[in-house]
Amino acid sequence: AGVARIAVVTGGSKGIGLEACKQLAGGGAITVVLTARNETRGTAAVEQIKRLGHADVIFHQLDITDASSIARLADFLKTRFGKLDILVNNAATDGIEHVIDPVYGLTPGDETFNGMDAGQRINWMWTSCRQTYETAKQGLQTNYYGTKRVTEALLPLLRSSSDGRIVNVSSNFGLLSFFRNEELKQELNDVDSLTGERLDELLAMFLKDFEAGGAEARGWPAEFSAYKVAKAAMNAYSRILAKRHPELRVNCAHPGYVKTDITRNSGILTPEEGARNITSVALLPEGGPTGKYFSEGEEASF
Ligand code: NDP
Repeated sequence: AGVARIAVVTGGSKGIGLEACKQLAGGGAITVVLTARNETRGTAAVEQIKRLGHADVIFHQLDITDASSIARLADFLKTRFGKLDILVNNAATDGIEHVIDPVYGLTPGDETFNGMDAGQRINWMWTSCRQTYETAKQGLQTNYYGTKRVTEALLPLLRSSSDGRIVNVSSNFGLLSFFRNEELKQELNDVDSLTGERLDELLAMFLKDFEAGGAEARGWPAEFSAYKVAKAAMNAYSRILAKRHPELRVNCAHPGYVKTDITRNSGILTPEEGARNITSVALLPEGGPTGKYFSEGEEASF
């Protein structure tokens, strides 16, 4: 028998990340490194998975915005396993500030709420929060730069695998259709010309426009704009990476609209269902697609 495959999941202590850890560990042939920035919550999550009978789960601390934390994880993996087979970049933040409690007098789970469609639920979320320059900046730092930094630090280990895979947990909020500036949209879609440096410039431009109050007027996405821009940048970066590393499978996956903290439990799918849309991409047969976008398990366009 060969050596077990090793998987790392970021933001593994709750929500989709936790369920993804359970699913990967439940298959039996994968050792899962569940990471979380909070040691107590991460360790508790590992214990919870072990109680389900999946012994191959270990905890390692990881704050994706902290360079030294990332370096410690990379060292640990290198020493312990000498490789990494699957990286699930799941950790993210909403890039907003929750200012008031549920509007319309509704709560997820209520009969009326259950009758609301996805658009109404998203609107419910948006009307109870506000995006400031600081939260927008934090959103980009975590969702784009954090994910990128983790990926780059673990890349040598993924390349030591015979079948290295990266699944970036994306969102349909990161779709290019949210960008109303055609030039911008084209630039983000032209992954043959796009570079990491140019992405940095575009993100700096977004923040500048945001600060000046003109992000929407300049064709950046409306509502949850930092979240959308960060996920779109992550998608573009994934495609660049996939081209640069044909030896790896680098894909993006939208889990669906899921009941977790990030949606204030307003979603449609359970965390298990959402996680299935991520792990199914992580476990695609060898030699499968790379540089692609999957929406709820199905290949779709960016
Ligand atoms: P949760 O809020 O339940 O989970 C987010 C996770 O990310 C938490 O474990 C959180 O840890 C972690 N995290 C946040 N910041 C950091 C950080 N700096 N370092 C390490 N971990 C961090 O939401 P979901 O489970 O729904 O989200 C998982 C992924 O799915 C995200 O990428 C999200 O964008 C994506 N997604 C979710 C959708 C949904 O409908 N739920 C729809 C589309 C995409 P902590 O507990 O410490 O805050």
